Amino acid sequence: MSLRFYDTRARSVRDFAPLREGRVSLYLCGATVQAAPHIGHIRSGVNFDILRRWLTYLGYEVTFCRNVTDIDDKILNIASDEGVEWWAVSERNQRAFTWAYDVLGCLPPSVEPRATGHIPEMIELMGRLIDKGHAYPAGDGSGDVYFDVLSFPRYGELSNQRVDQMRGAGDTDDERAKRDPRDFALWKGARPGEPSWDTPWGRGRPGWHLECSAMSTKYLGPTFDIHGGGVDLLFPHHENELAQSNAAGDGFARYWLHNGMLTMSGEKMSKSLGNSLLIPDLVRRVRPVELRYYLAQAQYRSVIDFSEEALQEAASAFQRVEGFLTRAVEIAGTVAPAAQVPTEFAAALNDDLNVSQGLATLHGQVREGNAALTEGAKEQAARCAANVRAMLGVLGLDPLAHPWVDSRETGLREVVDALVSVALEQRQAARARKDYAAADAIRDQLTQAGIVVEDTPHGPRWELRRN
Ligand SMILES: [Zn+2]
Repeated sequence: MSLRFYDTRARSVRDFAPLREGRVSLYLCGATVQAAPHIGHIRSGVNFDILRRWLTYLGYEVTFCRNVTDIDDKILNIASDEGVEWWAVSERNQRAFTWAYDVLGCLPPSVEPRATGHIPEMIELMGRLIDKGHAYPAGDGSGDVYFDVLSFPRYGELSNQRVDQMRGAGDTDDERAKRDPRDFALWKGARPGEPSWDTPWGRGRPGWHLECSAMSTKYLGPTFDIHGGGVDLLFPHHENELAQSNAAGDGFARYWLHNGMLTMSGEKMSKSLGNSLLIPDLVRRVRPVELRYYLAQAQYRSVIDFSEEALQEAASAFQRVEGFLTRAVEIAGTVAPAAQVPTEFAAALNDDLNVSQGLATLHGQVREGNAALTEGAKEQAARCAANVRAMLGVLGLDPLAHPWVDSRETGLREVVDALVSVALEQRQAARARKDYAAADAIRDQLTQAGIVVEDTPHGPRWELRRN
């Protein structure tokens, strides 16, 4: 099956063909760095990281641009409340986002542009829109520049809405300067005490929507392949991006992919609901790789309703996969990932990135591999393990690969392995001389140190106790 995606704009599944052969350009609306990320923010990062990895696996050279919105009303309000500069707030939160993406194994984007670093590009785009009659500076001298919604008949096509049924954009306190309440701000005129930049239409700062059009065009060209983001950004943000770029004469995104929300008891996660789950808290309860598995396992368009129980179930499911790989490597020696993933797994990921379907194939291979281990069929077990590693690699979840295997930790594991072996040999010797009290004492000491010993037909094996 060839690669296909559900395209929000077409409202149907479409075969994917890139603009340029062998290359894919991908834009993802990144963080508005108002606060440290919660799990809902990072879901999109993980979903599109898997998309990028899958495209790379298929042989495409991927240019991945994920922006940072480093200025907006809320960032300015926080800075004012704390008595610090606005950039101190965005810098701090951007670092928290970068840490969270890294800790969950998301590959860094090809480029991560910040809005305030692209003012000239925004001025150029506004100039084109004004020249073509699709934008206008506010007549009240405020410095605001608005997009003229009624001048663009296709406004509403992405979110499938009719303009005559839309409410006002609600992005300014004073709507009087607008020709129509639905017109949205491209540029916000300077207010006292706020940061501002010069433009031909007065000093001010970027509107949120304009920056994504300006930055995607700069790094990916006027027409590019895939635009991604959370479905909560569909309107007004993505609708406005599309309108600005198309009205200026740019082709913009050819496919629109939206990931589903992460909810808690059916409600969208947000700080205002007081139900946010921050990444540092979560990675204390499960390991980062388990949290990634939890976020990755659902098809990207589906809603994930967060529960602690489901998180722990995902961690256990991942541990079963990991346990199989550990045992397979112990019995069969080193197992390299297979060069190709199984056909059914490829078909699942080609079908609108259906990771949950792909995981069914993966767990099937784990079951088959475990049965082979029990029967002592080494080669078959190794074959399954190679397939499992190949599939996990595409999902960024291979426990035997970077970043989950740290080289220093591997060295440490060898040392611990040698020490545990000495202890286990003494335990065997104690048993042989029927000194069961000594044998049990050795086992208890290992347990106290966090080492779980399991007796298998191939002799005792150990692993670190979880939790
Ligand atoms: Zn955006």
